[in-house]
Amino acid sequence: MTTETQEIICGPCDIREIAKPAVVWCPTCDEGLCDECCGHHRAAKATRGHQFIDSDHYKEMPRKMIEEFNKCSEHDEKYELFCPNHETHCCVQCVKEKHAKCTGITLLNKVIENIKSSAMVSTITQKIEKRMERLTKLTKNRMENINRINKQSSELCTDFRRMREEMDLMLDEFEKGLNDQTISVKNTQSSIVNNTIAQIGAHESIYKEMHSALLKVLAYGSNFQVYSAIKKTEEKLINEDKEIELFLKTIMVYKK
Ligand SMILES: [Zn+2]
Ligand SMILES: [Zn+2]
Ligand SMILES: [Zn+2]
Ligand SMILES: [Zn+2]
Repeated sequence: MTTETQEIICGPCDIREIAKPAVVWCPTCDEGLCDECCGHHRAAKATRGHQFIDSDHYKEMPRKMIEEFNKCSEHDEKYELFCPNHETHCCVQCVKEKHAKCTGITLLNKVIENIKSSAMVSTITQKIEKRMERLTKLTKNRMENINRINKQSSELCTDFRRMREEMDLMLDEFEKGLNDQTISVKNTQSSIVNNTIAQIGAHESIYKEMHSALLKVLAYGSNFQVYSAIKKTEEKLINEDKEIELFLKTIMVYKK
């Protein structure tokens, strides 16, 4: 006898309309017993041999599984017999109606006496275990997939990093090459230009010398000396013009 909240109440007390929680369950009588009724149950001659189970343990058992075959739904009688021809449990009425011609009808209790150590138990548990094993394998397999995906992804990331580092190195070398070339070109060009500037300076000082020499003769020399200086300077200018022409030609060559 159970309440909505699965609290087991004492069967004998319930009959007398007293709600008392059961402390044990008597599987033979199929009802719970309170402390007091449990004492009576143990003492009474008819029920003295009944084995109890703790009511908490009884509560732990899945109700739907164990109550399904409590009573024959057709005849509202307890299943007490077993037909070996049909390999099924049956109540007294079932036997009368459906198994009249069957032979070897025995007590169900006798048939299931050693059921806990029977092949039926090991077969059904093995069936469930096999299915669980299969699912565990599937999960394991999927976990391995995840691990493989993780590994591949991290390997790819490492590859990208390495490629990037290689490209960095290549770019560094490329940049260094370009820089070296640029600096070398700059140095060459600078030295050419500096050289040209120096040559221009040399020509400039020739003109400066001519100029100041002529001015000195103009300031302190006689007319004849001035005449002589002009002639000499003209001669020098012609020579210098030739030099300058040659020099300018070389500059033009560089400018190309
Ligand atoms: Zn009671
Ligand atoms: Zn009992
Ligand atoms: Zn029946
Ligand atoms: Zn039968």
